[in-house]
Amino acid sequence: MPPDLSSAFERMRGAASLVLLLDYDGTLTPFTAIPDEARPDAELLKLLADLAARPSTFVHIVSGRSRAILEEWLGTLAVGLHAEHAFWSRMDADATWEASHALPTGWKAPILAVFEGAAARAPGAIVEEKASCIAWHFRNVEHDAGLREASELTLRLGDLLAASDLELLVGDMVLEVRLRGVHKGHAVVRVESAHPGSLLVAMGDDRTDEDLFAALPPDGIAIHVGVKTTRAALRVPSPADVRGLLRALVGPERPSQTVVNSDDSPSTP
Ligand SMILES: [Mg+2]
Repeated sequence: MPPDLSSAFERMRGAASLVLLLDYDGTLTPFTAIPDEARPDAELLKLLADLAARPSTFVHIVSGRSRAILEEWLGTLAVGLHAEHAFWSRMDADATWEASHALPTGWKAPILAVFEGAAARAPGAIVEEKASCIAWHFRNVEHDAGLREASELTLRLGDLLAASDLELLVGDMVLEVRLRGVHKGHAVVRVESAHPGSLLVAMGDDRTDEDLFAALPPDGIAIHVGVKTTRAALRVPSPADVRGLLRALVGPERPSQTVVNSDDSPSTP
């Protein structure tokens, strides 16, 4: 571990109260061709459960995904969930979802028409409609065609959104139109008031996570996953490294109790 990451890890390990704000896609799991295939594996579910059970440790997942998906995948864990870039927050497993903004009406139809037109020209593109944002995923489109269509969409939407309450986000193989003013930083505000005095640690891989990093208090720890430009002071290369770091916080995974390994018994000379 590089020295700066190692000293951040020691601060995390020694914190009297620790809050982890974790992005999901590209941070806890690698990207998949189809967004629905990124569901958590058993190792990840165990890791998140172990972290949530660690004393004075509060885990919050802060994702662009919908409430329905986060609940289906992670809903039984004792963690906070923040969906649609923290437009929705469910502070713990017993809490109800709360919205950060009032939703205007009628904003979706013109955006859906533009995205669906582009999806018809780019086989493999997926239009995903959520409460406060609409996403156009092109990870599964032939590479050059996907980039070409995305750049045309960026220009068209720039004009369409210029005088509106909406903004365009360019993510990793996804374009997203969301209400202006909705961003992941809202999760930091909510979590800080729920757990005052805690060390806040945020990890994320794309531009939407920069809002999370920007909202951290000065003593917070921001960790970028990957090689993009970031305001985070620290980096790790991949989701595997994120998992390694988090696993180190809770100690090694214990083997299942049903496994009896006779090699573990002490040898007597
Ligand atoms: Mg991500």
